Amino acid sequence: MTAVCGAGARTIKSVKVEYYQVPLAEVLSDAKHGDHTHFELLLCRISCQDGTEGVGYTYTGGKGGRAIYSLLEDELKPLLLGRDAAEIRALWEDMGWHLHYVGRGGLVSFAISAVDIALWDIHCKRQQLPLWKVAGGASNQTRCYAGGIDLNFSEAKLLHNIEGYLERGFNAVKIKVGKEDHKEDVARVAAVRQLIGAERTFMVDANYSMSVEQAIRFGRAIDDYDITWFEEPTIPDDYEGYGRIADGINIALAMGENLHTIHEFTYAIKHAKLGFLQPDASNIGGITGWLQVANLAYAHNLPVCSHGMHELHVSLMASQPHAGYLEVHSFPIDAYTTQPFALTDGKAQAPNVPGTGVCFADDLLRGHLIKHS
Ligand SMILES: [Mg+2]
Repeated sequence: MTAVCGAGARTIKSVKVEYYQVPLAEVLSDAKHGDHTHFELLLCRISCQDGTEGVGYTYTGGKGGRAIYSLLEDELKPLLLGRDAAEIRALWEDMGWHLHYVGRGGLVSFAISAVDIALWDIHCKRQQLPLWKVAGGASNQTRCYAGGIDLNFSEAKLLHNIEGYLERGFNAVKIKVGKEDHKEDVARVAAVRQLIGAERTFMVDANYSMSVEQAIRFGRAIDDYDITWFEEPTIPDDYEGYGRIADGINIALAMGENLHTIHEFTYAIKHAKLGFLQPDASNIGGITGWLQVANLAYAHNLPVCSHGMHELHVSLMASQPHAGYLEVHSFPIDAYTTQPFALTDGKAQAPNVPGTGVCFADDLLRGHLIKHS
């Protein structure tokens, strides 16, 4: 550890935490989490001695946010104050080991993510460069898809929703599956493929609602619909079960939103026979953690993708030469920023401003603030 305390332009002077509950425009459901009425957003604002400020954040599907707030405010803030904001990796390691015994992934990874993103924001601002350049610089744009949370929608509403995605310029879409009767899922998949035509990219996501056997049966039943990936067919911990599913069907498997350490990704690559990795910078230890997974994917000749927080991941995905598809998530965090997500010719455009490019619009968020330090 090389961190020093004391004066210096980069010394962390303050850490402020904000907890929001942001309502969704309508109830969104998937197979395992049930109804989503809102999402939780936790902001971590870090200021240095010279006035440079970085903003990091994480989010949840509506539960656990208060615990993350406490981890940030009560556990990580005291560890950060007085440290050099440029020592990102030292701080990342220290935060992880500080809470390792009670965390080892899980909520702790969410809290570390918010801090790490703030530190990267400062890091990029000091260089006067946008994140997509600092993180790798492969490109300033990336392929993307609209990720629907739509299991509760009738088939007519599902198709109407997909039409909306096409009108917005998306060339790739994903729907939820995991109905009680898998024939209903098959019919929805068939209807969506018919609507979007043969050329567009199409994925499905079961949110780990199926057994290995159910997933194999379903994967075979949708074999004719040119599905690019089958996401989280069964519980994310059953790596060998994923391997059996992969062996039993002709569709590539994807997961990552529920893998919260680099070690979980390492085991998943070894045993789960995945075709796509989907780390989420909000719960894999921020940008530092996401790039670790991206490097692991590259070394194993796998495309890296993303889950959630598209307004940040757009820059990370663009930065990587082996990027698969950016998920444009149904939680519209970008609607609460000063630079909402932009799509040109079906590709997501990374912001070209110094920092992460995610600047929250305080006037839009203020009404949803629950707690702050
Ligand atoms: Mg998913």
